[in-house]
Amino acid sequence: MIRIGHGYDVHRLVQGRKLILGGVQIPFEKGLLGHSDADVLTHAIMDSLLGALALGDIGKHFPDTDEKYKGIDSLKLLAYVCDLISKNGYGIGNIDSTIICQRPKLSSYIESMRENIAKVCNVDISKVSVKATTEESLGFTGEGLGISVHSVCTLVKF
Ligand code: ZN
Repeated sequence: MIRIGHGYDVHRLVQGRKLILGGVQIPFEKGLLGHSDADVLTHAIMDSLLGALALGDIGKHFPDTDEKYKGIDSLKLLAYVCDLISKNGYGIGNIDSTIICQRPKLSSYIESMRENIAKVCNVDISKVSVKATTEESLGFTGEGLGISVHSVCTLVKF
């Protein structure tokens, strides 16, 4: 039995925040705005994992009105989601994500993001794909107003 999940997330780029993607802090003049650490990649991945089992979304599991999630490392939330997936009798088949970001250039950080996610999900790195693209200066990502991420995953029944 295979289940497929999709996740999508957007965060605004602002001054005075850290830029964290897949648990990697990336040097840049701006960072992502959000209640947690605003790790948009990890958020989209969690939504794809939850979506695959129709378990809702991260807004339901980790409401941004809850003070305990303020500034939280999103990888900790991912660990919770992976635990939930496994309690429901499923394991991760694979994850494939695309970060849409005009600047900064992300290629040198991709491997570290994959390592972080694979480690938290307790899967081989070969099961975790992270890609980055630009939108050719078009739209809100192209204008550098924010970063968006699409993620899909498969879950396989134990
Ligand atoms: Zn988010």
